[in-house]
Amino acid sequence: MGKIRVLVAKPGLDGHDRGALVISQALRDHGMEVIYTGLRQTPVQIAQAAVQEDVDVIGLSSLSGAHKTLFPKIIDELKKRDATDIPVVGGGVIPSEDIPFLLDKGIKRIFTSGSSTESLASYIQELIEPIGAAVDNPKKIAHVGIAVRNIDDTLAFYTDSLGMELEGVEKVDSEGVKIAFLKIGESRFELLEPLNDSSPIQKFLDKKGEGIHHIAVEVDNIEARLNQLKSEGVRLINEKAKSGAHNSQIAFIHPKAANGVLVELAQQAGEGSEE
Ligand code: ZN
Repeated sequence: MGKIRVLVAKPGLDGHDRGALVISQALRDHGMEVIYTGLRQTPVQIAQAAVQEDVDVIGLSSLSGAHKTLFPKIIDELKKRDATDIPVVGGGVIPSEDIPFLLDKGIKRIFTSGSSTESLASYIQELIEPIGAAVDNPKKIAHVGIAVRNIDDTLAFYTDSLGMELEGVEKVDSEGVKIAFLKIGESRFELLEPLNDSSPIQKFLDKKGEGIHHIAVEVDNIEARLNQLKSEGVRLINEKAKSGAHNSQIAFIHPKAANGVLVELAQQAGEGSEE
């Protein structure tokens, strides 16, 4: 297959294209062919250029605040030209509350100011010519980890007052922790009690007291997700997956990467890489 052809376009009146140029260069660095329309393009011009240049995807950049009118107009102009098979992605200064509206109008994906050019490039690659690097999105919350000083003293609230079912209690010696599993729908609360002073849970209790310690999201392929996070420069605590409870594979993302939340990736036993 040939190179992926991307039309990078700036609809609207704002006169800054540094962002669009940075994106264009980053996509070229990823082996794509980029056609840049230049500043102040109308929706008609952009749709025409996309058809004439026979591009695989359109990338829109908007700093003007007019994305809510201009992006849907471009989708309309593509419809008029029977060219809705060309996916459109957008980015720039776009407030989060506008994103669902734009997705509803037919924009495939919006990248925000925190997005890396790496994630944009790999998204386009997988959209147009998948090379198998796409990582499935997390399916659910695997569990919420709650640090407690003593499971036996805490349990009655969860089982009697909240009415949750205690599924089991397990010691994970490698983490210096005893875990009580409380079922809630398809997820669990995990009460985490330190087994010794060097346990990370003991350190957490000393520093912050009892409370929510981490949130675990379930992933299908933890190695692929870790590789993707590494490629985006996301700070990790565990570069490699390690064994967790119930023979799961787990790894922690650094809380600095997630505004103070400790996020765990968890892959259930029997899933992922061996498939
Ligand atoms: Zn956990």
